[in-house]
Amino acid sequence: MALCLPAVAEQLLKDLQKTYAEKSEIPDDLLIALRFVFGPCTLQALDLVDRRAVTLVFSPSGREAFQVTGGSGRLYTCYTSCHYCPCPAFSFSVLRRNESLVCKHILAAYLCQAMGVCQQEQVSDKRVTLVLSGRAEPDS
Ligand SMILES: [Zn+2]
Repeated sequence: MALCLPAVAEQLLKDLQKTYAEKSEIPDDLLIALRFVFGPCTLQALDLVDRRAVTLVFSPSGREAFQVTGGSGRLYTCYTSCHYCPCPAFSFSVLRRNESLVCKHILAAYLCQAMGVCQQEQVSDKRVTLVLSGRAEPDS
């Protein structure tokens, strides 16, 4: 996984990857650590993971992005390679106020990757270009 996070957060996601692979569940101590490092959006992100709201879209040329369906049904395209989500919470809490490391969407993408439960969809290069440029509508 290529991550753009502080070392402590990266290590935590690595621990999650290892533990989830062994036990297929997240132990309480790890949940508490995730909550401590990533803040209040952790539970919302886990809810998105439970609802299978995260899809990794990839193309034959190797381009990829995560599409996360938010609670309101809106689709957000998250870029884990450069750590960016276009949602208002990311602009406000992460970029402007520097209060959080992540928003719930991008955290859900990281958690899905670590837990190996990401849905995957292969699309054409043309389609992934639309997704990456934020111009793709769901199911178009
Ligand atoms: Zn977001």
